[in-house]
Amino acid sequence: MILILLGAPGAGKGTQAERLVTEYGLVQLSTGEMLRSEVKSGSELGQKAKEIMESGQLVPDDLIIKMISVRISQESDAEGIILDGFPRTTEQAKALDIMLKEKDLRINHVIQLEVNEEEIVERLSGRFSCTDCGMGYHEKFSAPANKGICDKCKSTNFTRRSDDSPKTLRNRLSAYKEQTALILPYYSTKGCLKSIDGMAEMDIVFDEIKKVIDGD
Ligand code: AMP
Repeated sequence: MILILLGAPGAGKGTQAERLVTEYGLVQLSTGEMLRSEVKSGSELGQKAKEIMESGQLVPDDLIIKMISVRISQESDAEGIILDGFPRTTEQAKALDIMLKEKDLRINHVIQLEVNEEEIVERLSGRFSCTDCGMGYHEKFSAPANKGICDKCKSTNFTRRSDDSPKTLRNRLSAYKEQTALILPYYSTKGCLKSIDGMAEMDIVFDEIKKVIDGD
């Protein structure tokens, strides 16, 4: 199964994808995560992507398409794949169709998580994570039980994503509105797009996604 999660930054794609991995045994492919690990390793791709990511703009299509194509091929034995953060442009959506066709695969569901801009800014500006185990937190909605101590691994080191800063966030939202939102009609014309209220409580959003997958 190929499932695409669409939505603005902070819509909850990553959180819901992680839950779907546990529930259905799917593999989550997040282009944002892949790029962050390329930047960390200092690879050629990482060096090209670093500044662009820090500015909140989109990394060029050719680099992204090459990167994701390799990963999809590596997951040929998987139960299914969740694409989180890809595609983000019409060019990427078209390239995905071609690469799936070559691998005898097809998109089963495209799920859009709808969240308004005010909520996105509130969600992203308050989020941080444990530097050591990666556990995600939010200042207002899900702070650690003991201030300054990670619930999971007791570390006292926390980090914020540099691209969650107010200025970069504005660019990321513009990139979503001006480039990524344009692919919604592409998928609705194909008849595989479902929109879900991403403002609802996390468990409710998860149930709605499951209904789409299970065909209820
Ligand atoms: P994310 O973690 O999905 O919010 O992605 C973080 C950043 O990585 C984005 O702001 C972009 O700069 C870059 N990025 C991630 N996925 C893509 C993509 N499919 N196309 C272009 N740039 C991407």
